[in-house]
Amino acid sequence: MNKRFFLKVCSSLIGNHLLAPLLTWAIAAKLKNWAGNLEYSTENLYSAQTLDQVREFVKKQSILKVLGTRHCFNKIADSKRQFISLKEMDQVVALDTAARTVTVEGGLTYGQLSPYLDSKGWALHNLASLPHISIAGACSTATHGSGQENGNLATAVAGLEIVNAAGEVVQLSRQKDAQEFLGAVVGLGALGAITKLTLDIQPTFQMQQYVYENLPLSELKNNFEAIESAAYSVSLFTDWRKQSINEVWLKCRTDQKPAFEALPEFFGAKKATRHVHPIIELSAENCTEQMGVPGPWYERLPHFRMGFTPSAGKELQSEYFVPRQTAVEAIFAIERLHEQISPHLLITEIRAIAGDELWMSPCYKQPSVTIHFTWKQDWPAVSKLLPVIEKELAPFRPRPHWGKLFSIPPTQLHSEYERLTDFVALAKRFDPHGKFRNDFLNANIFGAAS
Ligand SMILES: Cc1cc2nc3c(=O)[nH]c(=O)nc-3n(C[C@H](O)[C@H](O)[C@H](O)COP(=O)(O)OP(=O)(O)OC[C@H]3O[C@@H](n4cnc5c(N)ncnc54)[C@H](O)[C@@H]3O)c2cc1C
Repeated sequence: MNKRFFLKVCSSLIGNHLLAPLLTWAIAAKLKNWAGNLEYSTENLYSAQTLDQVREFVKKQSILKVLGTRHCFNKIADSKRQFISLKEMDQVVALDTAARTVTVEGGLTYGQLSPYLDSKGWALHNLASLPHISIAGACSTATHGSGQENGNLATAVAGLEIVNAAGEVVQLSRQKDAQEFLGAVVGLGALGAITKLTLDIQPTFQMQQYVYENLPLSELKNNFEAIESAAYSVSLFTDWRKQSINEVWLKCRTDQKPAFEALPEFFGAKKATRHVHPIIELSAENCTEQMGVPGPWYERLPHFRMGFTPSAGKELQSEYFVPRQTAVEAIFAIERLHEQISPHLLITEIRAIAGDELWMSPCYKQPSVTIHFTWKQDWPAVSKLLPVIEKELAPFRPRPHWGKLFSIPPTQLHSEYERLTDFVALAKRFDPHGKFRNDFLNANIFGAAS
């Protein structure tokens, strides 16, 4: 009995109290994204275990999407017809210490890879706020951590293996396929199924994390460069309520020169004397260790620990990239909206990211600062606020995070991506009939809603 028929039978028998729990289960089992704000448009999910299975399955489908760890807040990953998951393809394929690369399968997460790499004496250059996400899904949306010298996570990709719409295996490498490669890495899921990624690695390193509380915005205004360059990775958290940054998270490499001197004060902020969560009301148990305790890179670069709920859980997220040189002005433009924003906000995070060469990266040829919003899960309120924020940020030409909520119209998006036409042409070579497209991609990239 297929699920649709099963549900039909159940609903006709809904009065039957014995069937009611079963029906509740079936409804609860709907496929949703991590935050639960989005119910995907189909529950058809095929889980591949081998490259051949991916090829065969892709070949047979007329339209499908690859689903990663489901951490996007918008419909970039959605499909009305069919998903394929590579979750079970989660092996490290090769560690090449001479080339300083690691090759992994398309379903592996950063949380799975990082301890392995560290145990072999190696590290990645950066991680996002959470390690729970798939490497392929994260790189496809240009997921980033923080640190003005650090490119987003996709900049570590040195090679890709992609199953295209015809079910053929295409290998791309930074060394051999210069332009095509730069177009494919932040591929927004539009080129095919990424079955392997090769990532740059470096010798493992230790880090210390310090948190300072209540940095006046006036200090931020006058010392933005010094604050951003004080550590390997810097995150500024604010709820915009007190003309201050509630928490400054400084992640320092122990091999950093000159070493970070953890004085009791940092630009007017006071060194925290206990572990804290970015949302101060929440338990710091979920967070990576602070208070300057040295530890491995992968237990300090993310804010949240593997095995624990990252962030708040029931939430929405939006994030805008602005050019680094206008960051302070952009931050103050948002501050002017604080009375509208704060009632709906859990926390804002501000981070710096280096520029890169990846065509669809929001940091393409542009060192950037991101202004991120973790919202209460109230879409009617947030959907009204996004255009207000976007209007305020318009002079700074904001580029939204590909995996988060935004309302910037496609025409405006297009004007921010000078390689968009090249990207569309590249996607058409991999997928001439739009097998890997969906409404989100059609509307925002390919220019015609399906
Ligand atoms: C709590 C939380 C914290 C976050 N923190 C950060 C942060 O610090 N920095 C940041 O930049 N972002 C952050 N994000 C956003 C997140 O990193 C991105 O949404 C990322 O894309 C999630 O990866 P995923 O595998 O879950 O993607 P999914 O939502 O599953 O998929 C995203 C896209 O990738 C494609 N895709 C996935 N796997 C493959 C594959 N194998 N082959 C081809 N295409 C594929 C999908 O088709 C889709 O287009 C956060 C999200 C959450 C929920």
